[in-house]
Parts: sequence; structure tokens; C-alpha cells
Amino acid sequence: MHSFHYQNGSLHCEGVDLQTLADTHGTPLYVYSQATILDHFRRLDAALAEVDHLICYATKANSNLAVLNLLAKEGAGFDIVSGGELRRIQHAGGDAGKCTFAGVGKTRAEIELALREGIYCFNAESEAEIVFIDQVAGEMGVKAPVALRVNPNVDAQTHKYISTGKSENKFGIDFDIIREAYDRASKLPNITLRGLQMHIGSQLTSSNPFVEAVEKVAPLAAEFKDAYGIEFFSVGGGIGIVYQDSLASGDADWWSSKEDGEKPLTVEEYAARLVPLLKPLGLRILLEPGRYMVGNAGAMITRILYEKHGSAKTFKIVDAGMNDLIRPALYQGHHDIAPLRQPADDAATETVDVVGPVCESGDFFAQNREIPATEAGDCLAVLSSGAYGFVMASNYNSRPFPAEILVDGDTAHVIRKRQDFSDLVAGEIIPS
Ligand SMILES: *Cc1c(COP(=O)(O)O)cnc(C)c1O
Repeated sequence: MHSFHYQNGSLHCEGVDLQTLADTHGTPLYVYSQATILDHFRRLDAALAEVDHLICYATKANSNLAVLNLLAKEGAGFDIVSGGELRRIQHAGGDAGKCTFAGVGKTRAEIELALREGIYCFNAESEAEIVFIDQVAGEMGVKAPVALRVNPNVDAQTHKYISTGKSENKFGIDFDIIREAYDRASKLPNITLRGLQMHIGSQLTSSNPFVEAVEKVAPLAAEFKDAYGIEFFSVGGGIGIVYQDSLASGDADWWSSKEDGEKPLTVEEYAARLVPLLKPLGLRILLEPGRYMVGNAGAMITRILYEKHGSAKTFKIVDAGMNDLIRPALYQGHHDIAPLRQPADDAATETVDVVGPVCESGDFFAQNREIPATEAGDCLAVLSSGAYGFVMASNYNSRPFPAEILVDGDTAHVIRKRQDFSDLVAGEIIPS
């Protein structure tokens, strides 16, 4: 579900009018729906009721403290990829004991922090890393809980930058040598083997690659349970979301209008196919969803500054740039774009490029897109921007970070203030 819909002629997030938010807080502006985030967490949780499980939200997808706090209160665990994320979780009231630590390049400082704070498990991605964790744990006089990430060499059928489960990707330990890796890890004195982990990619829109990977890896999990007493199997994240037709998809009619073959993945279908494969293991099942939890919960609001009629194209130049939302430039990511003022059913449309002010030709949100006619001063919502949106923002072109808002019913909470000039130059020093 999502919570963006037209009401009284203007786009709302839950009960809040987005035009009012844009006028009050300025643009560009990220807006998130609390109800959507909670609904997604609870739906996935319910779909997995038959197995002992822990949902470890992939923090990197959207790590605002308010979002983390919301999920911590729901009882979520967290998948983290840095020491900074661990500190965020704790700052937001989350429990280090429910954190798994992923990533191919953990530093000594990060490993020490995670051991000191008592995380649930390291998900190690190379033998060199396991040896190093063992060494650091030994120096600290503690035992490190470790799972190994296996690379199952299956094709996730997603964009090449977010595919992680093929042998040519840098992630995990090759399927062919994972047994030897567990054997060697089991002999290290300061390591406790706690689980087995995999994550084959992001934005998967079919359950088939998940099934293929679990069928391949579940027998290993059973074997390692017997051999080393591991207690969990993490199947990673990657559940895809609807980016096309994202406004309509909030509607039950839209789902029922779809032919069976082209229905996007639902968590109910995902669970229905995976739970029967996972339940017989008798292990605790971990999941690491990021995009699914927050992607459709967010929109980025931007204002049209100018319209420019080139000989080949019409450009809508908006006040958000690739520094605010990089997905189109980085992944050819599609985002639906909707005007905040509801267009009449028979309103004229125009085919335009929606572009930002940054000095890069990759700085666009849509190309050759037919959208309802708009003019300078109008605001647009760039939909499905809740995941890998704000968190990937930069200050490129000395542009301050946008503000973020969390909507709860009729209430809008500012959960991050817009940066100002002093934020931009904080930490910089002119030598005297
Ligand atoms: C990024 C990542 C995830 C989350 O992926 P989504 O597609 O956002 O669900 C989960 N696990 C690991 C190890 C990751 O790197």
C-alpha cells in the first residue's frame, strides 16, 4: 500500500496536503507516510508468522532517526553496513543485540564498536575478513558471532548495479568454497558461527530468483546447523516495489485489474513461496528488507522554476537535482511524477524532460515523459522516493540537503531541518 492520493483537488500524504507542506517548508522536500511504513512492516511480519523470524530492516535504505525509531518500537531488528549506522540505531532507541552487520569492507574501528556494543552477528563477506574479526575479538578478549555470506551465483534479474548474487559480484563467498570457509572459520578461537546469510540483489520483481537461491542454499543451512550449531539463516533483502503507476497502485482495483503474469511481487506471495522451503530447517529466519519497507512510503516534492522550449524538447527545470535524488542518474531508475494540483480528467498533457539545476546531463528525473500540463511555480511529486533517496543525497554544487517530513494522519513532523549555509561549510578550514 501507499498513502499518496488526490483529495479535494490536491495530492495528499495521508491527511496532509502536500502543497501546504511545500509552501510552509520549502522545496525540495522529502515526505514520508508513517502509516505506509508500519503497514509494510506488519504485513511482512504477519506473512512470516509460521516461522521463527526477525525482520532486520536494511538501515541504508532510509536511516532518518525518526524512521529507525518507528521501526525499533515495532520490534524490528536492523541490518547495518557501517559503524555510523549502528550508532544511529542506538541513538534512535534500537537494540544493538538485534543488529546484523553486513558489508565487504568493515574497518577495525567498526568491528571494535560492534563487539563492544554486542551486536547479534557479523555477516562476513571474505575469509580475510573472518580472520581479521577473529584477531580483533581475541585482542578484546571476547568471542565474535559470525555468519558467512554465501554468493549463490543466481541471476536476480535486476539492474546490474544492484545485482549482488552472481559470482562476478564482489559480495559474499563463492558457493563452491563455502564449506571449506565454514570449516576454517570453525577452527578460529574467537569466532562463534551463528548463522548463514545471502542477499542476491535489490528490486526483484519476481519471487523466482528468491526461490532458486533458497533452494540452492537451504541444504547448506541444514548442514551447518548440524555441523556447527548455527541458529539462523538470513535470506537477505531485495523485495521489489512498484515504481510505474505508483499512484494507481495504492488502489485495490489496480491490483485486481492486472493480468496474473504481470502482477508485481507481493510479500504474501513471497512468503507463500519461501516459508515452505524455510520452515523445515527449524532455524530462525532473518530478512533484510530495505526498499520494500520505505520506498513507496516517500515522495520528493519539487517546484518548477522555469520552462524551456528547446528545438528538440521541452524542459521543466525544477529546484531538486540529482544531488537530492540520484536514482535516475545512477540506476536509470524510473519515478512516476505527479503534479500536486490534481489535473482535470480531460486536462492537456505535454511530453517533457523534468531536469534539475545541476551541471550534469545525467541530472534528470524523467525524459520524454507525458505528464499533465504544468507551469512555472507549480509543484511536482517525484513518487516512490522513500528508499535510496535522501540517504544518497550529497552537497554537490554546494546545494544544502532538503528537509524531511514524517506524516502521521493529519500531523506533519519535521524530522530533519533543511541545511543552511553554515551547515554547508561546517568543518572546512581556511589555513591562516
Ligand atoms: C542493501 C542490502 C539489503 C536491502 O536491500 P533492499 O533491496 O533494499 O531490500 C539487504 N541486505 C544487504 C546485505 C544489503 O546490502
